[in-house]
Amino acid sequence: TAEKSDRKLDYYQPEQDRYNARRLTLMSELKQAISNNQLSLYFQPKINLSTNTVTGLEALIRWHHQRFGFVRPDEFIPIAEQTGIIKPLTRWVVKEALRVQHELLSEGYDIDISINISAKNLREEDFVSFISEALTNNKKPKITIELTETSMMEDPLKALQVLEDLSQTGVRLSIDDFGTGYSSLAYIKKLPANEIKIDKSLIFDLTSNKGDQVIIKTTIEMCHQLGFTLVAEGVESQRVVDILKDLNCDIIQGYYISPPLPINKLKQWLADIDG
Ligand code: C2E
Ligand code: CA
Ligand code: CA
Repeated sequence: TAEKSDRKLDYYQPEQDRYNARRLTLMSELKQAISNNQLSLYFQPKINLSTNTVTGLEALIRWHHQRFGFVRPDEFIPIAEQTGIIKPLTRWVVKEALRVQHELLSEGYDIDISINISAKNLREEDFVSFISEALTNNKKPKITIELTETSMMEDPLKALQVLEDLSQTGVRLSIDDFGTGYSSLAYIKKLPANEIKIDKSLIFDLTSNKGDQVIIKTTIEMCHQLGFTLVAEGVESQRVVDILKDLNCDIIQGYYISPPLPINKLKQWLADIDG
C-alpha cells in the first residue's frame, strides 16, 4: 500500500547514510590500521584426508576496529581494492605470515601457509619480485598463494603470465572459490596451479544434495586427471568428511576441524592434536 511504501522510503535514507558513513570511516582508517597494529592474521588448519595430518594453514585477515569491533574481510578487502591499499595490505599479510611460519618452525612445526591475494595484486609491476625477495629472506618458506578464478577472468592472459612467473619463485598456487564462477577447465588446465579449492557453497549441503555430490565427484575426477590437489572448504560435519573421503578428496578445511584461530590458540590446537 501507499502508506507502507512511504514508510519504507522514510527509513531507507538513514539506513543508507549509516552504511555510507561506516564505509567512509573504514575507507579513511584502513591505511592507518596497518601501522596501528589493528590488523591480525587468523589461521585455519587444512587436513590431509588420507594421512589425517595438518598439511597447511590458511591465513585469514581480521581487523579489530576501535568503534566497530570485528570487521570482516568481506567488508574491507573490497575497500582496500578500490583505494589501492590492497598493495601495502597484501605485503603486510605476506610478511606477517612468514614471520608466524618462522615462529612455528622454531617450535618444531614445519607447516605450509596459504595466503589470499587479490587480482589487483597481479597488476603490480613489482609483485613477483616482492614475493621472490620475501621468500629469500626466509630460511625455508612454504607458501601457497590463493587466488579466485573469477578474479583471474578480468584479464586471463595477464593472470596466466604472472602466475607462471610466480610459480618460478617456488610458491605453490591454488585456485580459490572453484565452482562459483564460469569456470573454464580449458583455461584452468593451462594454469601452473598445484591446487583447486572447491567453494564452500558446494560443500555445505553435500549430505542432502545429490546434485552437488555429482558435481563434486566429477570435479574431483577431472582435476585429479589434470594433476591438481583437491581441497574442500566449508566442511562442517563428520558426514561431509565421510562423503568427501568416498569421493577421493585430498584435503579438507572447515569449522568441523577448526575455525580460523589467532596464533596463540593455534599453537594450543597444534599441541592438543599432537599429544
Ligand atoms: P576465502 O578465501 O574463501 O576464505 C574462506 C572463508 O570461509 C573465511 O571467511 C573462513 O573463515 C570461512 N570458513 C572457513 N570454514 C568455514 C566453515 O566451515 N563454514 C563457514 N560458513 N565458513 C567457513 P573470512 O575469514 O571471513 O574471509 C572471507 C574472505 O575474505 C576470504 O574468503 C577471502 O576471499 C578474503 N580474505 C581473507 N583474508 C584475506 C587476505 O589476507 N587478503 C585478501 N586479499 N583477501 C582475504
Ligand atoms: Ca582462500
Ligand atoms: Ca572460498
